[in-house]
Parts: sequence; C-alpha cells; structure tokens
Amino acid sequence: MLSSRVMNIAPSATLAIDAKAKQLKKEGKDVVIFGAGEPDFNTPENIKQAAKKAIDNNLTRYTPVGGIPELKKAVSDKFRSFNKINYDGSEIMIGCGGKHVLFNAMMAVLEKDDEAILPVPYWVSFEEMIRIDEAKPVFCETDKNFKLTAEKVEEKITPKTKLLVLNSPSNPSGAIAEPSEIRKIAELAVKHNFCVISDEVYEYFTYGKEFLSIASLNEEIKKLTITCNSVSKTYAMTGWRVGYCGAGKEIIKGMENLQGHSTSNPSNIAQMAALEALNGPQESVKEMVKAFDERRRFIHKRLNEVDGISCVEPEGAFYAFPDISETGMDSMAFASKLLDEALVAVVPGAAFGMEGHVRLSYATSMHEIERGMDRIEKWLKEKI
Ligand code: GLU
Repeated sequence: MLSSRVMNIAPSATLAIDAKAKQLKKEGKDVVIFGAGEPDFNTPENIKQAAKKAIDNNLTRYTPVGGIPELKKAVSDKFRSFNKINYDGSEIMIGCGGKHVLFNAMMAVLEKDDEAILPVPYWVSFEEMIRIDEAKPVFCETDKNFKLTAEKVEEKITPKTKLLVLNSPSNPSGAIAEPSEIRKIAELAVKHNFCVISDEVYEYFTYGKEFLSIASLNEEIKKLTITCNSVSKTYAMTGWRVGYCGAGKEIIKGMENLQGHSTSNPSNIAQMAALEALNGPQESVKEMVKAFDERRRFIHKRLNEVDGISCVEPEGAFYAFPDISETGMDSMAFASKLLDEALVAVVPGAAFGMEGHVRLSYATSMHEIERGMDRIEKWLKEKI
C-alpha cells in the first residue's frame, strides 16, 4: 500500500543511530554517544520560564499559520543585526523546527526533474528532501578541507539547475565557506537564476572565523535565497521544534500555504519560548559556544593522536568528520562495530554521501568526549 515516494525514503541515519544508542543506554549499557547533533546543555532558565508563563496565560490555542507577529518581528530584528539582512515581517515564516522549514522551502521551489546542487558531504536529510520532491540531487565536490568553491559549483550548473543547498558552517564537516567564495557563488546564482537554500543553523558556532549570510550581499541574491535557521542549536532547544526562515514574500506565502495544510502553526508555547530566546539575555549562548570551542580543540587533537585516524580541524558547528579509511573498514562497518564492541556511537560518513569518514558530534561533555576517545583509541589498537 505504500507510495513509491515513501518507499524510496532512507531512514535518517543520525536519528537511527541516536535511537539505537539511547535504547542501549536505557538497557543499562554504558554507551558514549557522539551520535545526533544536539546540545547537551539544558534550555536556559529564562526561556523555560517564558514557556511556563505562556501556559499560565492560556496561550494554548492556534496562532497564525506562519507564526505570531511578535516572533516574526524578533526574527526580523535578529536577521538585521546578526546577519545584516533586511527581511520585514511579510518575508519571515516560523515553522516546526529547522528541518521542517528546510522541507517546506524545498517543496516550495522544486519541481519534478529539477536539479538541486548538493555539496558533499551533506547533512543526511537534504538528499531525501530533494528526492521526495521528485527533483534530482546533483552532488558537488568540496576541497580536501570540505570547503565549497564557486568553481566546483559552476561545473554542476545546467539549464535544469533550480537550487543550490548551502550549509555553512557545515553539518557534518564543520567547514565554513569562505566569504570570497560565497560572493562568487551569489554571482553564479544571479547569473544562472537559481535559488539558494542557505541553512545557517550553526551560525553562532564559528569559533572566531568569519561567517557570511549569502542573502546579505545584495538585493538580487536576497530575492533568490531562502535563509533557514532555528533556535534549536543556538539556545539548546532541539525538542521545542521552532525553526524560521527569511525569503521573498511570494516564497513565504507559498510556504505558509503548504504549512497551512500540513502542520498549521508551530506550538504556541514553543513560539513564546523562542521569542524569549531571541529577545532575552544572550549570555548563555556565549557560555555554550565557549564550551563547544574547548571540546572542538580537544576532540580534534585526540582524534589525530589515534593510529588509523586523521581529522581536518572542524571550523564550525559541533561535529568532527575524521578520515577512517586507513583502518580498512568502511564507514558502516566502523560505526556498527564501534558501537557493538566498544559502546561508542558515531554516524557513518556514507549517510552524508562520503565514504571513508565518520561523524562525531562533540555536543557532549568533556568527560564523555574523553571516555569516548579513550575507548576508540583502545578499540582500534586491538583491531588494526
Ligand atoms: N541535525 C542533527 C544531526 O545531524 C539532528 C538530527 C537530525 O535531525 O538529523 O545530528
């Protein structure tokens, strides 16, 4: 009875590994989880209080489909101050998490048989989202440090190109696209008239490196771009499911229509929490980013000390994407044996379109990183 559209979807590897690791933990196994990218911090107190207040004030009914005006205003202010993009309220939509916003954005612009350029390695869900829309992912190589270049993008452009997926800082590699390359990519998009879905969820996790929002460059590229983001990573709010995007009015209208027939509005209570996240004190973000930076440097160093593993320094996000090809195992075998034999969960690179690598999320405590790295080191010593 299943449609071919659904039958052809591969399960999300990040969520599958996470579920398996959490299940093992529940069964009493001492698993170290470098699986799903989800901050280990609790949602800051002021944000939780705002949600509690929303319940007490009976903000428990439907809201406008694309989000409450106050939250759209807060998003618009944030786009202006942080990203240097001027989106007014009619150019903003609130969705049920970053993933849902990306899903809607793709569906709003992709037609059957359109080509969507997807830089490799890519976050697991991008490929499936493109396929669900019956469009074709066109894989685009990045350089040895996983950096996207305009030259490589240009090689993939055809008359059928409708879209480029830009994800900087990148999940899974952490690479941050160079501003000079982003400028050239914007010129290509304008010249060849294709859209850019810019997934900027890791924009705060840049550890001193320059980050540029492509839509901030000029009006022409702004019109072609859907700038997608969420409060999940920045404010440790993964479970609240609030994402947002900025784009031209027509695209936003189309996305709102889609949302109106699927999820309707994101949770009213979660929107009030997101409002406090964006408008309230930002100290907790700085503290979390500082902690992630320490972990980033530590895990990078430890990975490179292990025989058989080499790792490019992750510039942003909270993932390391080491090369494990010297171990002789493919990424699936590496990840599944590591979990079964050493109780450490990582995600195979194959899920991100790149064999020979695995992804480790370092959004976990230093203590856990240390324990996990000790186990990987010991396990590989015995194995190779
Ligand atoms: N974006 C995170 C990850 O890649 C969360 C899990 C998911 O939704 O894929 O791990």
